[in-house]
Amino acid sequence: MPREEDWTAPPLNVDEFVTVAGRVADTLTEMSARTVIVTGVSADHWPEPSEQTIAIMGAPVDTGPAPIGVTFECDSAVIAIQVDPRTSPWELAARLAGEIVDHAATEWWGEPYPPCPRHNRHPLRLVPGSDALYWACPHQLDRNLATVLNGPA
Ligand SMILES: [Zn+2]
Repeated sequence: MPREEDWTAPPLNVDEFVTVAGRVADTLTEMSARTVIVTGVSADHWPEPSEQTIAIMGAPVDTGPAPIGVTFECDSAVIAIQVDPRTSPWELAARLAGEIVDHAATEWWGEPYPPCPRHNRHPLRLVPGSDALYWACPHQLDRNLATVLNGPA
């Protein structure tokens, strides 16, 4: 198990989660007939063990920061995702987008999501470019159709 010191980047906070989740939701909404909104972002806390538990089990093992929960609503579907905050904004965006796209694939099977505006029959792909994370047609990966995040990865 990685120790705290092994992580180079500090954990993202709730505000950063809100920003990244909002960008994922906004770009998905821009590119399809479906509206995606962020309905909740909340940091959990590991429960504090009682003195009795510590006496029996020993001191708690450091398991790192508690996950942050993100909830999206897409049409009538609710998508709840838990993410370890020790992640980069790009990784977070990719994780959240991936979960929503996976959900779409089971909920609206057969429908490309998010649909390619040029071909309409296949979904777009999230591309980590040199200065932006963006949605692109899988046949033209270098053409940015909607920027999710700017800046270094
Ligand atoms: Zn295409």
